[in-house]
Amino acid sequence: MSLKYEKKDIYSTLSQEELDNANGYAKSYMSFLDKARTEYLAVEEAVAILENNGFISLDEKQVLEPGDRVYFINKDKSLYICVIGNESIVNGLNIVGAHIDSPRLDIKPMPLIEKSGTALFKTQYYGGIKKYQWMSIPLAMYGVIYNKDGEKIKISIGENDDDPVFTIADLLPHLAKDQMKANANDFIDPEKMSVLVGSLKDKEADEKVTEKVKQNILKILNAKYGIEEIDFARSEISFVPAFKTKFIGLDRGLIGGYGQDDRVCAYATIRGLIDAADELGDSIKKTSVAMIVDKEEIGSIGTTSMSSRAFDMFVNKLIEKTNSMGVDKLEVYYNSKVLSADVTAGISPEYEEVSDIQNGSMLGCGISIEKYTGSGGKYNASDANASYMSKVMSLFDRNNVMYQVGTLGKIGKGGGGTIAYILADKGCEVVDCGTPVLAMHSPYEVTSKYDVYMTYLAYKAFYKE
Ligand code: MN
Ligand code: MN
Repeated sequence: MSLKYEKKDIYSTLSQEELDNANGYAKSYMSFLDKARTEYLAVEEAVAILENNGFISLDEKQVLEPGDRVYFINKDKSLYICVIGNESIVNGLNIVGAHIDSPRLDIKPMPLIEKSGTALFKTQYYGGIKKYQWMSIPLAMYGVIYNKDGEKIKISIGENDDDPVFTIADLLPHLAKDQMKANANDFIDPEKMSVLVGSLKDKEADEKVTEKVKQNILKILNAKYGIEEIDFARSEISFVPAFKTKFIGLDRGLIGGYGQDDRVCAYATIRGLIDAADELGDSIKKTSVAMIVDKEEIGSIGTTSMSSRAFDMFVNKLIEKTNSMGVDKLEVYYNSKVLSADVTAGISPEYEEVSDIQNGSMLGCGISIEKYTGSGGKYNASDANASYMSKVMSLFDRNNVMYQVGTLGKIGKGGGGTIAYILADKGCEVVDCGTPVLAMHSPYEVTSKYDVYMTYLAYKAFYKE
């Protein structure tokens, strides 16, 4: 028997039946990803899946019994989901938490300008991006806008085959001599990341109208949605890459798509809970909570982020409705176990030098457990306790979940964080655990379909504990 630890690749290890299951799961995930293009849409899609599987709104239930399946939508952009267990809630919850916001380009409050015969939307990027990657690619427009009567209008343009798309036209290389001298951080000025939305003048406009292309766009928007320019100030509209999710490679082992950070874990968080509840039936022990939250990419700040005390309110409601009055919420947290379901960096084949290979995550070798995140001297890290690492690893071993242990990258090369520290602050045991990704935060992120499947198996096993 070898004492040495070696990573194993999933494809060489699993039976054909399991490989087929992985392929089927990957396809259902890919169709989710194509629909869940924003946090709003991710919540809508998730609720549709949940309602198909017997979940109802928490508000519809006065009393919660073991086996009950409920969800709570926090302001349209984050979602807490729960299956009630037989044990008292004071024994703690099994929680898996992912995020559903992804890097993108938001419009400014007053976005529409006209320049050189074109109409453009001014944007402000959201999350950490390499700005040049977002130039000269097709973009789709999604969001919500409220008119002056307070009615909510949904916008979704660019995904159907006959929809137009949008783009930011980058400078041609022939005239980019000055641009190319700046370093990669600076050579795209974020104030110039304006999206082309029109080029035709309003032919009927009065002589005195100076910006006829802008005028034409306002007319189109008014005819289609009944909105006026001021209404942009009460909107949340984003541009996201208009690429379809596809298998990558001649052997189809990888998945390429936008927003896999962290919707790959979000989908597994939900599917894992549904299937765990189905498989356990009446024998469910712990109360399980799945959550998909917003605003992780900008530091988990805001009402729909993990930091929001809306989650505490949700747990209060669980205590109340399971007739557990008198139970201290802090004790519930103290006894709870959490998987912080977020992606990590896969070892990048042409940039191996930024990874500590032995402590890195290789695509195709399973879900990655990351004991700590942060940067430098574990600064800002949520560092999981050894005892908890032991519990999670033995759980995965018992359930044939193929996993690897990793760190984001070499010390001093950068760093990152997740929602783990927020749950750690509440007193929960927590560790980061998610799918390795190549080209994270780019418009087209890459995962292994077998890691994607292992992520689902891992969360399902965790809920069943
Ligand atoms: Mn993430
Ligand atoms: Mn991220």
